[in-house]
Parts: sequence; C-alpha cells; structure tokens
Amino acid sequence: MNQILSRRPLLKALVGGAIVLGFDPRRRSWVTEASASGPLDGVPALDGTLFVDAAHLAAAADDFGHIISHTPVAVLLPGSVADIAKVIRFARRHGLQVAMRGQGHAQFGQPQVQGGIVIDSSSLSVIHEIGTDFADVDAGVLWSALVNTAATHGLTPPVLTDYLELAVGGTLSVGGLGGTTQHFGLQVDNVLQLEVVTGEGDVVTCSRIRLPELFAAVLAGLGQCAIIVRAKVRLVPAQAQALVFHLFYDDINLYVHDQELLLNDGRFSYLEGQVVANPDGVTWRYMIEAASYFTPPAMPNQTALLAGLSDDRSTSEIFTQTYSDFAFRLAPLIEFLMSIGVWGFPHPWIDLWVPASRAASYVGGIIAHLTTTDTGQGPVLFYPIDTHKVQAPLYRLPDERIAFGFHILRTAAPPTTDVVNAMLVQNRTFYEQAVAVGGTRYSIGAIPFTRADWRHHFDGVYPFLAVSKLRFDPDNVLTPGQGIF
Ligand SMILES: Cc1cc2nc3c(=O)[nH]c(=O)nc-3n(C[C@H](O)[C@H](O)[C@H](O)COP(=O)(O)OP(=O)(O)OC[C@H]3O[C@@H](n4cnc5c(N)ncnc54)[C@H](O)[C@@H]3O)c2cc1C
Repeated sequence: MNQILSRRPLLKALVGGAIVLGFDPRRRSWVTEASASGPLDGVPALDGTLFVDAAHLAAAADDFGHIISHTPVAVLLPGSVADIAKVIRFARRHGLQVAMRGQGHAQFGQPQVQGGIVIDSSSLSVIHEIGTDFADVDAGVLWSALVNTAATHGLTPPVLTDYLELAVGGTLSVGGLGGTTQHFGLQVDNVLQLEVVTGEGDVVTCSRIRLPELFAAVLAGLGQCAIIVRAKVRLVPAQAQALVFHLFYDDINLYVHDQELLLNDGRFSYLEGQVVANPDGVTWRYMIEAASYFTPPAMPNQTALLAGLSDDRSTSEIFTQTYSDFAFRLAPLIEFLMSIGVWGFPHPWIDLWVPASRAASYVGGIIAHLTTTDTGQGPVLFYPIDTHKVQAPLYRLPDERIAFGFHILRTAAPPTTDVVNAMLVQNRTFYEQAVAVGGTRYSIGAIPFTRADWRHHFDGVYPFLAVSKLRFDPDNVLTPGQGIF
C-alpha cells in the first residue's frame, strides 16, 4: 500500500504497448506513429505512465454508482506530483479537462471526464510521516492504511468514515463524515496543511495561515479549484476498545429526541443511527448506534451512558470490540456483498441534511412510504451532528445548530435502467422536499443536479467559489464531472 515508486526518467505513455508520440491538436487525439502528419505537441516526459488503452479508459469511465459513463482520452498514473502539474498544463494548453480519481466511490460520474484526462491517485500512496499529533500523507493513501499505520504509534484520525477504503484526497474533496463528527467536525475540519496542484498547473502549499483562500476553496471543494496531492491531517490518541450500543425505537419522535439528547451532552465517543427494516420489509424501526472508546483498566459506566434514554431496552445489543474491529466493522459485510456480486450493482445513493426541527416530520414522511424495494436492501442512515463543529465554508448545512443526516444508500436491484431511473427521480423529489424544509445535500451520491441547483446549494458562498475558480482554475480544467461550472 505504502510503496514508494521509483522515479522513472523516460516517457512511458503507452497505447497497446506503443509509445505515444504526442497529441494531434487538430484531430484532438493521441498520435502513436512517427508518420503522423501535421503539427504534433509532444507529451511531456513523465515519471509515471499515461495510459490510453481501452481497458484503462473503460475503468476510468465508471464509478461505484455505475450510472454515468464518460470516457476519457487518457489515464495518468502519476509517478510524482510534477507529473500531475505537467499533465494539467498540457491539458490546459489543449482544452482538455482533468479529474483526479480517489477510489472512484462516487456514484454519479463525479471523478469522470468525457474526452479528458483522469489522474489515478492510487500511485500517490506514501505515508510520509506520523508525528505526535499529525500524519503527512499522499492524497491516494487510503484511510484504512492510515488507521493501521497510526495505530502502531497509538494514534488515530479523529474522524473516520464508516468505510475506510476511501482515499484521503477523495474524502477531503467532499467532506468526510463519521460518528465522531459530533465532537470533531468533518475530516476537512481536521486538516493542517495541503499540497495542491491548481488548474494552472502550479504546485502550492496552503493552510489556514498560508494562502487561506485556496485552503478554504479546496476543502470540501469538490475538486473545482485545485487537486489535492498531499495532506497533513490531525491525529489523536487511539483508545484500545469500543463499548458499542445498538438501541432500538419504534417511535421516530422519541428517537430524534434521544439522539439530540446524546448529541447535546456528548456522552458517547461515537454517535450514528439508522432506519432499519422490520422483517416484513415494509415497516421500519430506528436504531441509535453509539460507542464509548476506552482503554482498560478504565471502563465506561454503562448505566450513566444509558441514563434518560427511552429505547426498547429488551431488544438492545451491547458488546465490546477492539477499536480496530470497530473501525473496520463494515469490511466483512462488504466482502460478502462483493462475493455475491451485489457490490457491482448500480448505487443511486442520496445523502441529505435536514434541520433538527424538521427531522422527524421530513424523515417520518418519507419512511411512511419507503420499502426495501426502494432501498434495494441498502442501509438508511439517520443521525445528528452539531453544525457549529463544521468550519469548512464550502460544506453546506442547514441553518440550525443541529442537523440530521439522512442517507438512503440504495442498491438498484434488479440492476436495470428502469430501476435506476426510478430511484434517480425519487432522489430528486426527496432533495426538493428537503430544500423546502431548509435542508441541503451532502455533495456525494446521485441527485440529478443543474448548474442553477449548485448555485442555490452554495448560496452565500457561491461568489467565493466562483471567484476562487477564476483565480485558481481560470480555464475550467478541473473536475467537470461535478457539473458546477
Ligand atoms: C461504501 C461507501 C461508504 C462511504 N462511507 C462514507 C462515510 O462514512 N462518510 C463519508 O463522508 N463519505 C462516505 N462515502 C462517500 C465518499 O466519501 C465519497 O464517495 C468520496 O467521493 C470518496 O471516495 P473516493 O476516494 O473513491 O473519491 P472519488 O469517488 O474517486 O472522487 C470523488 C470526487 O472527488 C474528486 N477527487 C478525488 N480525489 C481528489 C483529489 N485528490 N483532489 C481533488 N479532487 C479529488 C473526484 O474528481 C470526484 O469529483 C462512502 C462511499 C462508499 C462507496
């Protein structure tokens, strides 16, 4: 995972084994034969490899959603940050667009570029340093690798996503939400410094002190102003174990009340929650998923942790796991979904935020008509955060101190176009209903969205984003798959 690529001095742009000589600006295509007629713009010498073969292009024309397919003209596996800068300058010169790809876990074409260049960040996979309270990592490092390496130093990132096989650069481009967001904000709120490559091909270091406008434009900036190539992120001491609670409710009002109580007093280390289907597949329950991290001999006080809650205690599940098993808790399920082929089905996910004051009525209204056919048996997450903990200006949240995330992580089953389209139509409807009650979206997932929708989404910070775009990516080279500019 953390291999260090040797620097390769020679051009390694391959097409079916042949060397790419250059780019034909008239035909807008790669030239692989010396007999090419007309002007030829040579591909810059790279430390890594520029692939233009069908297999690489097809892989980059897909993502976890399997809904959108935009085929690029090349895929760069960078051997250095300099490669990324060179390729962005090259692309800009030729009017090509570029997107960085983390692990391609997006669901609606966000890391894709029709007729452009996709940069595969997986070769930027070095953990450069673990300090006493920070890690300095390449953008392509997976959170799973960072968790494992930090653990050997007794440390952990303060905020982990539920699934850890996501790239650091990928989640920092969107936000990075988890059960400890209640205490620490999003992953983007725990970044000390970034190295980025702008849309002009400049390699720049930024932080809250150094070029703070660029720093703010990149965190949760959906890849619009610069590409993240390296990040210095906070680490905190890791506890050894997690006491985990699954607490069930039949009444959404009681559930929302207790979630707010727990958020307000912050008694748990980790706080999430789900809407879970009853065996009939038509009715639903609500489940608080909470955990208290500890290192023996210190032990959490279970009675105090459960005080004042109105869950159906007869069905509660309470157990202890190692911190590592808890952090990697989804791995066995995902391995199973992969083994039965369902992981490869389309995933038209929807991820929304609703103000706490409207959470029970909004989510209750949707749940009343939702069935497991609508979700394809995918999980439905529903839990609150303190919006004041989120500092990144481009991450849009409802205008209340507490907001509930509502995520329908759908699988289109059967995986037909009709099923996908019906889910997309429903996503759009749910989004509009959320906006009507003061909600926003988490800018991942698959909601059909126009440029006007983005303007509305960014609202008061749209001028900041637009000015930053003009300043750092004036020719709109970067990340067109988001559909913002
Ligand atoms: C199973 C699963 C579980 C998830 N769980 C969570 C969760 O718990 N919490 C949460 O917050 N999210 C979660 N997500 C969503 C996830 O954060 C997004 O999919 C995110 O895009 C990260 O995925 P990725 O690294 O594969 O990025 P990609 O999908 O490859 O990229 C996403 C976007 O970011 C851009 N991008 C990627 N890397 C960079 C970079 N280095 N610089 C600039 N732009 C870049 C891409 O061009 C694209 O526009 C989950 C997704 C999946 C599939």
